[in-house]
Amino acid sequence: MAATALAKLLPSRCTVALIESEAIGIIGVGEATLPHIRAFNERLGIVEAEFMAATRATFKLGIEFRDWGRVGDSYIHPFGTFGRGSGEVQFHHYYTRLLRAGVPLPPIEHYSMACSLARANRFGQPARDPQQIASTFGYAYQFDAVAFAPYLRRIAEGLGVRRTEGKVVAVERDAQSGDVTALVLADGRRVEGDLFVDCSGFAALLIGQELAEPFEDWSRWLPADRAVAMPCRTATAVTPYTSAIAMPSGWRWRIPLQHRTGNGYVFASDFLSEGAATDALLAAVEGTPLADPRVLRFKAGRRARSWVNNVVAVGLASGFLEPLESTSLYLVQQAITALIELFPEKRIAPVDRDEFNRLINMEYDRVRDFLILHYHATERDNSPFWTYVRTMPIPDSLAEKMALFRRRGRVVKYREGAFLDASWVSVYLGQRVVPTGADPRAAAPSTDSLVAGLERMRGEIAAAVGAMPAHAAFLADYCPMPAAA
Ligand SMILES: Cc1cc2nc3c(=O)[nH]c(=O)nc-3n(C[C@H](O)[C@H](O)[C@H](O)COP(=O)(O)OP(=O)(O)OC[C@H]3O[C@@H](n4cnc5c(N)ncnc54)[C@H](O)[C@@H]3O)c2cc1C
Repeated sequence: MAATALAKLLPSRCTVALIESEAIGIIGVGEATLPHIRAFNERLGIVEAEFMAATRATFKLGIEFRDWGRVGDSYIHPFGTFGRGSGEVQFHHYYTRLLRAGVPLPPIEHYSMACSLARANRFGQPARDPQQIASTFGYAYQFDAVAFAPYLRRIAEGLGVRRTEGKVVAVERDAQSGDVTALVLADGRRVEGDLFVDCSGFAALLIGQELAEPFEDWSRWLPADRAVAMPCRTATAVTPYTSAIAMPSGWRWRIPLQHRTGNGYVFASDFLSEGAATDALLAAVEGTPLADPRVLRFKAGRRARSWVNNVVAVGLASGFLEPLESTSLYLVQQAITALIELFPEKRIAPVDRDEFNRLINMEYDRVRDFLILHYHATERDNSPFWTYVRTMPIPDSLAEKMALFRRRGRVVKYREGAFLDASWVSVYLGQRVVPTGADPRAAAPSTDSLVAGLERMRGEIAAAVGAMPAHAAFLADYCPMPAAA
């Protein structure tokens, strides 16, 4: 992703050399994404239908969380808004006002176009006219990460990126500045450069092994440190959403692609062994396994700085937050975008480097809080893992956010970023964090006219959903995978 973006967007500013090792390979998981990937792909000139066919992709309207607040609960974190999302006062303020007044209402997802489409297993492109209810949702993709890497590589090479196959075994540095000057490959070749983008995954070859930039460990808040992954033949409908199903010591993902379904159990090894997690996954999945279960190990956290000297870490080399909200590829994109915006001229200006680190740290910190919310806002007490996360101390930044929501439904605002109001509202309400007070701006209109307005909206949503095709039919028409897949 980094090589393609740099070559495409800064063709006159840099020459890109890409070093990869087939023997080491890529991590090869990372199937669910956030809507921001669409804008990123567009900037690279990627044609959506072609990319989706090549990566056997499906559409993703959000994430279904099952059994998180309590066993038996289910809610969807949608890509889009609740209600129309246009007015100054957000929809959830009116909705929770009615709930507090004792008006019997269905769950808030009934007022979301994305949730309603997902539950109906239908899909269509969002309407362009902002007046239409069908304009109030977005979407992302669920795709085969193993197919995405060579797809991007072909584009990168077409843009002039020089790819070198080989294993980096040594790093040369300038004695005075400490900057990296060249990478040495196992066969003795040297690759020199001015700026090095460390995309070496968990190995963190330059930022970690060579520059020893400290890793901030967040496992006290996000104790899951293992995943066991296994693809299966698809046994049920290809849903336009990812499922995250709570398990006794973590949670399980289900990501339907066109040709298979990705499954995995993310768990905390302090509470469950790898063998027991594998057995639990095998017992839970639907469909015939297509490969043996594979265990991956990780630790939640990030580098104190992702750009140090002339090394910029992107992806797993820079940090990792478990895949609960599909944020890793989003964080990769954000790092690449920031690098392009702050790309050095002749020399690296420390002020640009500091700004990059500020932006990336802010992204990680916000995602961290959002993930912790899912674990902490629970009533589950049926296993040591859930008791730990329910009762653990949380970061002050999250405690303040939760207090503001509980008081009057206020969602801490960001102008941009991964998760805006509707995301937080879906998790708060979906996991029973309910405001006790009202936002004064939502005092009008009268209860009767508000209830009537909500009913009209549900009718509009039902009509718009009914007019859209089944997800499988849309895929078959728009981006069928190659016959041999
Ligand atoms: C369990 C799990 C589930 C995940 N699910 C999601 C998800 O649903 N959505 C999402 O967005 N993300 C997800 N991720 C994260 C996602 O997999 C990564 O963000 C993404 O694959 C990018 O990884 P990367 O390029 O940083 O590292 P890698 O894919 O590991 O690539 C590292 C590259 O560096 C090369 N390399 C390493 N060492 C050397 C060396 N010495 N010499 C030469 N080359 C070298 C390798 O060959 C490879 O090409 C998940 C991660 C895990 C662990």
